[in-house]
Amino acid sequence: MRSFVPAFELVAPRSLGEALALLDREPGVWRPFAGGTDLMVLLEAGKLEHKKWVSIRDLAELRGIAESAAHVDLGAAVTYGEVLESPTLAREFPSLVRAAAETGAVAIQNRGTLGGNIANASPAADSPPALLVYEAEIELASARGARWVRYADFHTGYKRTVMDPRELIRRIRLPRGAAGVHYYRKVGTRRAQAISKVVLAGLGRAEAGRIADIRIALGSVAPTTIRCRRTEALLAGRLLEPATIDAARRELAAEIAPIDDIRSSAAFRRRVAQNLLAEFLEGLSR
Ligand SMILES: Cc1cc2nc3c(=O)[nH]c(=O)nc-3n(C[C@H](O)[C@H](O)[C@H](O)COP(=O)(O)OP(=O)(O)OC[C@H]3O[C@@H](n4cnc5c(N)ncnc54)[C@H](O)[C@@H]3O)c2cc1C
Repeated sequence: MRSFVPAFELVAPRSLGEALALLDREPGVWRPFAGGTDLMVLLEAGKLEHKKWVSIRDLAELRGIAESAAHVDLGAAVTYGEVLESPTLAREFPSLVRAAAETGAVAIQNRGTLGGNIANASPAADSPPALLVYEAEIELASARGARWVRYADFHTGYKRTVMDPRELIRRIRLPRGAAGVHYYRKVGTRRAQAISKVVLAGLGRAEAGRIADIRIALGSVAPTTIRCRRTEALLAGRLLEPATIDAARRELAAEIAPIDDIRSSAAFRRRVAQNLLAEFLEGLSR
């Protein structure tokens, strides 16, 4: 049975400066509220004790997709719908666009933000594997200044991040020039609205039958989304042949640590992760 949404306070600052000043004045008392698609579920279920929220979704400083010669910068409040409409992202970062297309249905895509997906820090979230293979960087802003962190260093454990309560995610930066085969596949219970059982993003290239560049990231197989560095190291420079793919499957199974939960079993997740890896690697030779 569902509870009624409890009373909560939501303030809507007019600028990023105002929002950051509020977070700085009372650290941890006020928390960011973007599209609300994660938060409203918890609020409605009566599972969220916290009652003071700062609406950041309409802050101009967190919106829009900007391009420079070296990067594409996405404001933290960019929605999945906006990701799906960007020709630049479709051309250069197709796995992120694929992740957006696989996230929820249209209502969620219109409200849910990339910053919210990252900050919510679910290991089953769909955009993080794509962000990891594209070697994204995250700008954290506070009233005391801004800092950039590699997205690979952002998650420190299950639902834990390097973010301070005074900070919020301002921008997500994608370095341009990601070349090769872009692979993204989410395996869930059904086509729409399913939380992933396993999601794999890959970026790779083969030259003269050998693996030249390789990046692999997986969701739902560990307490955080992970970049599979051991498997990448095993594959780098190797001949793209069945024996290599078999060895990579074994290495991946040892590198990940999936669990049994209500959505799937550890054994199923391990097998699916291996199969997705094999599909990605086989695609490098085409
Ligand atoms: C029906 C349904 C289907 C869904 N399907 C999927 C799916 O397929 N794949 C998937 O990955 N997710 C899915 N989600 C989860 C959710 O939609 C996404 O995680 C979404 O990106 C959250 O963004 P938001 O802006 O709504 O975040 P919010 O709910 O506003 O916030 C989530 C968390 O992030 C924090 N936060 C938000 N923005 C910032 C910021 N800029 N800086 C710091 N902290 C911030 C908030 O304080 C909060 O802790 C689904 C949710 C629902 C309800």
